[in-house]
Amino acid sequence: MTRLLHRTTRSTPRLAVAARGITIEDSEGRSYIDACGGAAVSCLGHGHPDVLAALHRQADSLAYAHTGFFTTEAAEALGARLVADAPEGIGHAYLVSGGSEAVEAALKLARQYFTERGEPQRRHVIARRQSYHGNTLGALAAGGNEWRRAQFRPLLIETHHIAPCFAYREQHEGESAADYAARAAGELEAKIAELGAENVLAFVAEPVVGATAGAVPPVGDYFKRIREICDRHGVLLILDEVMCGMGRTGTLHACEQEGIAPDLMTVAKGLGGGYQPIGAVLLSQKIYDAIAGGSGFFQHGHTYMGHPMAAAAALAVQEVIARDNLLENVREMGAHLRARLEEVLGDHPKVGDIRGRGLFQGIELVADRATKAPFDPDLKLHARIKAQAMGQGLMCYPMGGTIDGQRGDHVLLAPPFIVTRDD
Ligand code: PLP
Repeated sequence: MTRLLHRTTRSTPRLAVAARGITIEDSEGRSYIDACGGAAVSCLGHGHPDVLAALHRQADSLAYAHTGFFTTEAAEALGARLVADAPEGIGHAYLVSGGSEAVEAALKLARQYFTERGEPQRRHVIARRQSYHGNTLGALAAGGNEWRRAQFRPLLIETHHIAPCFAYREQHEGESAADYAARAAGELEAKIAELGAENVLAFVAEPVVGATAGAVPPVGDYFKRIREICDRHGVLLILDEVMCGMGRTGTLHACEQEGIAPDLMTVAKGLGGGYQPIGAVLLSQKIYDAIAGGSGFFQHGHTYMGHPMAAAAALAVQEVIARDNLLENVREMGAHLRARLEEVLGDHPKVGDIRGRGLFQGIELVADRATKAPFDPDLKLHARIKAQAMGQGLMCYPMGGTIDGQRGDHVLLAPPFIVTRDD
């Protein structure tokens, strides 16, 4: 009997023993095609020799040094690389151990920016329904998945949620993309007015919504409008690219395709590609300057922040992606995957929508295509799809999302960037 508390107490997961390229093998000798990178994590696939070599070199020279005493070459080099490749205005990187930690740090940086500037009344965070920002309390509060939040609600800081930009579910019949983008962004304007602009800290959003909605891209100039609304009211824009960032959608950052730059951005999964736990907050120079010109101290910190093993792995992952031109492969293979999904599943009576960007594609499953009615949640469709797929040697990422309080089902595909046409 396992002594671990796994995600479920109803069963013990298969024992993974080896992994190479796009496949993982279990202890019974079965192999699984990793078509979702775990949870959009393994962007380089498994066992990449250049990353393993970098990890070996780092372990050999320095495995850990507490950031209260030292910085390290690996952390400095990763920080420099992240900032050099970042959207305009980003001046610094803060290294943590994962996505939830990155979101927590981003929220605190936003708050401290205003306390340093003498605006301590700014306290309201606005986020969107059908979003996921992590499972720690601050990140969970920002997230808009009621199923995940419900039992912990008494512990959560108050957060305000507006509608997502979700064309399949929310764009009206006959409404143009431009009109819909304006209407969806208008929700932010209205919420800021309701709370009083001078009290609002930040707006948090995933540029392409991942786990809770299934690779939902924005429509038209939605994010340009969001940027403009935030600027007009002095509200910080936090883009959560933990899942959709670091090349997954075909550009290094998903927000590049929206033509905007955030004040704060979180990245994680594709940063270290699963070789080490790592995440980062990319922060604009103005936020750094406010702290540097004020207390000079970001009141946060974790024991494993800036971990040199994690930084060395992430640096190697990012170098391989650039050297091997893998973003081009993401775009090409993403277009191929999408075309094949549409060809094979496009007319299926239970497939409501196929969407996404790059190697980040979602398939929404519906009980009725005409009415878009979701399946009965008691069917636990996502669990059955996962079991069926695993039984046939395929890892995909099915989820039951939330649609206006109801559940909806989708399957997320996020294969490694090294995937080929034959795969
Ligand atoms: N933000 C987004 C958009 C995510 O998709 C996730 C994880 O799925 C997180 C934050 C939390 O990241 P982690 O699981 O590494 O804590």
